[in-house]
Amino acid sequence: MKAAKNYKFWFCAGSQDLYGDAVLANVAAHTKEMVEGLNKSGLLPFEVVWKPTLLTNELIRKTFNEANIDDECAGVIVWCHTFSPAKSWIIGLKELRKPLLHFLTQYNEEIPYDEIDMDFMNENQAAHGDREWGHIVTRMGIERKLIAGYWTDANVQARIGSWQRTAVGVVESSHIRVMRIADNMRNVAVTEGDKVEAQIKFGWEVDAYPVNEIAEAVGAVSESDTNALVDEYYDKYQILLEGRDAKEFRDKVAVQAQIEIGFERFLEEKNYQAIVTHFGDLGALKQLPGLAIQRLMEKGYGFGAEGDWKVAAMVRLMKVMTQGMKDAKGTSMLEDYTYNLVPGKEGILQAHMLEICPSIADGPISIKEQPLSMGDREDPARLVFTSKEGSGIACSLIDLGTRFRLIINAVDCIKNEKPMPKLPVATNFWVPQPNLYTGLEAWILAGGAHHTAFSYDLTVEQMVDWAEAMGIEAVVIDKNTDIRTFKNELRWNAAVYR
Ligand code: MN
Repeated sequence: MKAAKNYKFWFCAGSQDLYGDAVLANVAAHTKEMVEGLNKSGLLPFEVVWKPTLLTNELIRKTFNEANIDDECAGVIVWCHTFSPAKSWIIGLKELRKPLLHFLTQYNEEIPYDEIDMDFMNENQAAHGDREWGHIVTRMGIERKLIAGYWTDANVQARIGSWQRTAVGVVESSHIRVMRIADNMRNVAVTEGDKVEAQIKFGWEVDAYPVNEIAEAVGAVSESDTNALVDEYYDKYQILLEGRDAKEFRDKVAVQAQIEIGFERFLEEKNYQAIVTHFGDLGALKQLPGLAIQRLMEKGYGFGAEGDWKVAAMVRLMKVMTQGMKDAKGTSMLEDYTYNLVPGKEGILQAHMLEICPSIADGPISIKEQPLSMGDREDPARLVFTSKEGSGIACSLIDLGTRFRLIINAVDCIKNEKPMPKLPVATNFWVPQPNLYTGLEAWILAGGAHHTAFSYDLTVEQMVDWAEAMGIEAVVIDKNTDIRTFKNELRWNAAVYR
């Protein structure tokens, strides 16, 4: 995977100088102990760093501006050990540009009934301090995450870990650069969008390159480099000749190996992390990039088919958000293709003409060659597999003309009921929540696309938080969705987001 930075999160306790040095020494010591406890929990993917207690307007402003310019700082966690007058935070909060978490917790878990006196209360008054601090953040309209619970609780620690991934998604969004090879497919609406507005909202740079520039980079890849990669493919994947000539088959696979190397070199040289292609505009490329794109996605590049740059950026973003996750099950572009409407077996077969990321594969992966019904090139080699079972989220970012909407559907992936020996593409089969028909009606009402950015490893909450941080509408279709409420939500949202 193309590595994101070695991100860290700053942990700042808020207080004031009213309490005297002894209390402030305790505040600092307790905060250090909490930081250490969070880091040792093993539930946070990124390190938490202790910062000196924030007491004054000047120090808060200075600390937050240091967070702004520190490339490795992906967010600030604020905890109110004592009461911290919130006017002291206004300038600092106004200038903070990093994701913000208000951690609603307390050093002690239980009220020490036998010992408690006013000194103890003054030192441990998070319930008091949280309200003062939360008020100013709400009044200023600043997006922040709230996580409430005791700091040693594993569920609470896991929620902080989950938010860290969202925060990295927010920070990394501004580094995503999408290379467009050819324009969006002619006459298709949902893959289009306002690239300038996407850069304003998300930070994405979306640039076009003539297909033959990248085809030249492919042509420049040596035979020996290509053959070495083909050998790797033959070691790693099953080869399904299906009566084809072995030598010819290998030559066609080599075309994809050359594309993989050439594309990756071109993307690296020009610093892009995502790419789109279009089967109708292949220039000097001999095949539609299939296997090559599948492998690049597995390495962490974003991809969107038929010029779909929004999906390419979302796939990249979601891959970054899941980076380094233990037991990750995978993230890919997918496309809604065909329904199964048999009662009790309802669902949607997900596939694409070629380009599904093998990170979501379950079981063996094979290489096949088949003619493509669209385009006018030789039969492309592709990886074929079925996908893992389990819950996931399908995301569609659409441009409504004046604004963006992110649609998030919680889905349950199950095994295909039967093998599909004649289908020469990778597949996934899912049941949208709350069920196929309600999920489908809600998706279409919201304007969701056929291409999605799908992940087993991210949650609805993470993507909603990301959308909120970006200042765009997010709608969720999950087990709580009913159509009447959902329609009203869309109407109300139309009044809020304009
Ligand atoms: Mn498509």
